[in-house]
Amino acid sequence: MRKNIVAGNWKMNNDLSQTESLLKALQDQKTTSNAEVMVAPTFTNLSQAVSTLKDSNIEVVAQNMHFAENGAYTGEISASMLKSIGVKTVILGHSERREYFNETDELLAKKVDAALAKGMRVIFCFGEELADRKAGNEEAVVGSQIKNALFHLSAAAFRNIVLAYEPVWAIGTGETASPEQAQDMHAFIRQTLANKYGEDVADGVSILYGGSVKPANAEEIFSKPDVDGGLIGGASLKAEDFFAIVNAF
Ligand code: PEP
Repeated sequence: MRKNIVAGNWKMNNDLSQTESLLKALQDQKTTSNAEVMVAPTFTNLSQAVSTLKDSNIEVVAQNMHFAENGAYTGEISASMLKSIGVKTVILGHSERREYFNETDELLAKKVDAALAKGMRVIFCFGEELADRKAGNEEAVVGSQIKNALFHLSAAAFRNIVLAYEPVWAIGTGETASPEQAQDMHAFIRQTLANKYGEDVADGVSILYGGSVKPANAEEIFSKPDVDGGLIGGASLKAEDFFAIVNAF
């Protein structure tokens, strides 16, 4: 059975004291949600967050990692380093990484392999740009992002893969895909997985939607049958808003 997941991507926000305040505010929130909850602080605050949240139901995840085990990669962080501080899940392929740091599907395939080889779970992000959607190419773009970065994997590897469909035109713009647009794309993604790996694998993979999810629209988006949760940017920086989204499940 696939899980419902709500993950907050804090991006390059919050210094140590701001991180501590937000973590405390998160711990004060009440929830009856059945969703798994995750937050992704910046690298420098991961260790602190793991220790603060160790007795909570909130998992601390990383926003990125390098594919190499170690070596001459100045400024980079490896899967082993993340694991050594208790981080077991990593977000890979966020559109900001693709756009500002030139991350390609081929590079991401290497990162996915490195994370899985260390027993980590991957939240793999992808999504079309506005021009792709205007040209009616959104399924072709999304299909090729998934195939290029993930279709070398075995069926068993998908137990540790979570997909996050994030149309680039909806990230941080206030513009959200309609619940129907999200459902149509998620159904396409699941069918793409089913065609390659079979229905059982496709049914077991959680597919999150990301792009301007807020308390006001979360419930309707999450009500769609192929939307298993959300990757939340801006609204994850306020504990009340984030948990209002979590409580949409
Ligand atoms: C994101 O960056 O993954 C994201 C979905 O951002 P926002 O919710 O701010 O659109």
